[in-house]
Parts: sequence; C-alpha cells; structure tokens
Amino acid sequence: MNEYDSSRMADLLHEAYGLRLVGSAEDADVILMNTCSVREKAEDKVYSELGRYREIKLERPDVIIGVGGCVAQQEGERIQKRAPFVDMVFGPQAYHKLPEMVKQIRRERVHLLATDMPEIEKFDHLPKASHGGFAAFVTIMEGCDKFCTFCVVPYTRGPEISRPVEDVLRECREVLAAGALEITLLGQNVNGYLGTGPDGEEWDFSMLLYAVARLEGLKRLRFFTSHPMEVNEGLVEAFAELPVLMPFLHLPVQSGSDRILKAMHRGHDREHYIKLVEAIREARPDIAISSDFIVGFPGETDEDFADTLDLVRRVRFDTAFSFNYSPRPGTPASKVADSVPQAVKDARLQELLAVLRQQTREFHHAHIGRVEEVLVERPSKSEGDMQGRTPDFKIVHFAGKPDQVGQLVQLRITGAYGQSLRGELTHE
Ligand code: SAM
Ligand code: SF4
Repeated sequence: MNEYDSSRMADLLHEAYGLRLVGSAEDADVILMNTCSVREKAEDKVYSELGRYREIKLERPDVIIGVGGCVAQQEGERIQKRAPFVDMVFGPQAYHKLPEMVKQIRRERVHLLATDMPEIEKFDHLPKASHGGFAAFVTIMEGCDKFCTFCVVPYTRGPEISRPVEDVLRECREVLAAGALEITLLGQNVNGYLGTGPDGEEWDFSMLLYAVARLEGLKRLRFFTSHPMEVNEGLVEAFAELPVLMPFLHLPVQSGSDRILKAMHRGHDREHYIKLVEAIREARPDIAISSDFIVGFPGETDEDFADTLDLVRRVRFDTAFSFNYSPRPGTPASKVADSVPQAVKDARLQELLAVLRQQTREFHHAHIGRVEEVLVERPSKSEGDMQGRTPDFKIVHFAGKPDQVGQLVQLRITGAYGQSLRGELTHE
C-alpha cells in the first residue's frame, strides 16, 4: 500500500510541476519519506534516515523535505520538533494536498502540518494513474475499523472508506489500456470492501471481483490484504469460479491460541480459521495460503504458543511473515504490561520460523516437474537470469532475456530453494 501511495505522490507532483523521480536523495529538489508505523523498528528508521537528509538540507537549504504516511500521522508536530529542518508533515489521508503544500513552502518558506482526517475522498483529488506497467496496483478501500488491540492502523489510516465500483472499474480499464496484464487490488482489509455499485446498491468484495475479472485484457487478478472475518461464501466461490483470480491468499491469523485471539480482538477463534482455509482449499485446491503471526503478545504463555505451532502444523502455510510483538502507542495492548521477556519472544520466533520455513520448502519442492505460467518481472541478480512469479506468487529464476519482462512464459520447474524456484523455458 505504501508503494502504491508513493507512486501516486510522484504522479501528483509530476502532473503539477513536472517533477520526476531521481535515483538518490542527493539529486532531489523535493525529498519525501513515506513511513510505516506498524512496528517500532520501522518508526525508528524514520529518524535515522532523517539524519541523512539534515546534511542535504545544510548544503542545499532550498531542498524541500517532507515526511508522510503513518508515522507522520501519529507523531505530527513532534517530528518537526525533533527535526526542525523538515518542511512538511502529512498523514496518509492528506497526500492529495502535496502540490499545494510544495507551492506554499516554495513561496513562503513555512513549516506545514497536514494530519487532520477529512471525510472527503482523497481519491477524487488524484490525477490519472500513470503506471503503464505490466503489473498495476489499484486501491479499492482505505483504513480499518477492526481495532485489533495491538494495531496502530485504525488510528493512523482512519476508518474504512471504499471507492465506488465505477471508479475502481475505470481505473482498472485505464491500467489495462496502458498495457497491464496483472492487477492487484489493495486495501488494509481489502475483502471488507463495501462500495456503491452502478445499480445504487452496496457491492461487497466478491461482487467487485467478478466485475473486474470480466474486464478485457486482464490475465491475472490478485488482492492484498484480507481479514479472516471478511471471508464470505462469495469470495470462496470466486476462487472456484474465476480462473483469472490467482490461487494465492494472504490471510493473517496472528496466533493459534483462542485466548490470545480474543485478547487481540480478532473476532474469530482457531477452529473458524482452520475451517475457513479448508473451505478455500476445497474450492481451489492449488491455492497457496500465506499468513502473518505475532509472537509474544502480552500474556502469551508456553501453552498459547504451542497452540500457534499446532495451528501452523494443521493448516500448513506456503509462506508467512512473523514478527515479535511491538507495543504501539495509543493501542489498548500497549497499556497492558509487555509481559513476555525478550529472550522468550526471540526463542519462540525462531521456533516458529523454523517450522514455517520447512513448510515453505515442502511447498516449493512440490512444484518440481510442473509447467507453470510465469509473469516475467525483471532481470534477477545473477547474470543472464530473469525472474518472475507463478500464479501462486512464488518467485522463479530462469535463463532468459530482458525483452521477456512483462510477458507470460511457460517454465518447467527444475529446482526448489528456501525463497524461490528455478525453471527453464519449455518449447511447447
Ligand atoms: N489488516 C490485516 C489483518 O488484520 O489481517 C493486517 C494489516 S497489518 C498492517 C500487517 C501485519 O503487521 C499484521 O498482520 C500483524 O501481523 C503485524 N502487526 C501489526 N501490529 C503489530 C504490532 N503491534 N506488533 C507486531 N506486529 C504487528
Ligand atoms: Fe490492524 Fe488489520 Fe486489525 Fe485492522 S484488521 S486493526 S489493519 S491488524
């Protein structure tokens, strides 16, 4: 989502003033940092990176420095107190104001703060997306109303707002006309989408999927990130019925312990999650399931953690992102003592990662010998190799040519590693 937001900021400033992206901050007239505050580490990075920009500002006082995104929303003017050389601080709901802010700073050399969360749709103020790539992102909803007790997102990104169906379809048609083969629909809780349809009725996420899937020229449809409580029958059916919907689902579960799931305010128990994955796999047997885990949530006991390991063994995940719990300011969980000692958190995280890595290896290994359609993304790091993604989102390296970027090729999978697969072009 942040990558998408960053590219829209670049689009905006390009349209307003012809600004274009440059390779390094040292060459820039405007430096924007788009930040994440989901874990403390990401937030710490903001201040260390700002140290670098301070040097640039000392050398070139005319450079405009802005901090946007969730850390900006949360920290507000504290950022300018700690780093007075920052010209503007703007939250995720305010980036459509960038051209105006840049203009004002150039003219008046003022410090600006834009962290209010207006009801207006920032989408209405954005220029046409300029993607033009073979893989495009389209935001369909923003914000989150779930208020999981550990999570800062509802406070920084505000309440859930869904774009009207017609707006989403129009943007999808535009990126397809500009050459996209793959569209990824984005949202904090993408399957919580509830947008006004052309018939004046509220459309849910699966209805939107069916409409996007019908668009001319679309070869691959993906979405991120979904919440287990928003998976309904329509979505399960969409996986069974829409071949263009790729067989990959990122479905964060966070914990396998009922007690912890309740304390996290996730709205479901472990059995519900396990049954959900069973139903989805029944609808789409080749689907890859990925997830997020938080280890060391306040009050997590050895038994709770054992339940997480047990859920992982029962479900079996293609991939997963696992994190140590990080207390976030203002969240309910941060007001409870962070009771799990760091050494215990670390040990649990390592144990969980070991199980998950083994599962990834097994899923990767099962691909050997298969012929997969791969969308070629870029040259890979090793000389003469290209890399792309299988329908189930696995990275494949193969001997190819740069002019294959953006094409769908058939590869026979010949090798499996921890993070990726190896393949060769078939001649069929
Ligand atoms: N909306 C998605 C959901 O609920 O499934 C997840 C979006 S969240 C921004 C991305 C991931 O960050 C979460 O799934 C969670 O694992 C992790 N995360 C969020 N807050 C965290 C915290 N305080 N400490 C550690 N990890 C956290
Ligand atoms: Fe955060 Fe996701 Fe929970 Fe919303 S649903 S509060 S984004 S973890």
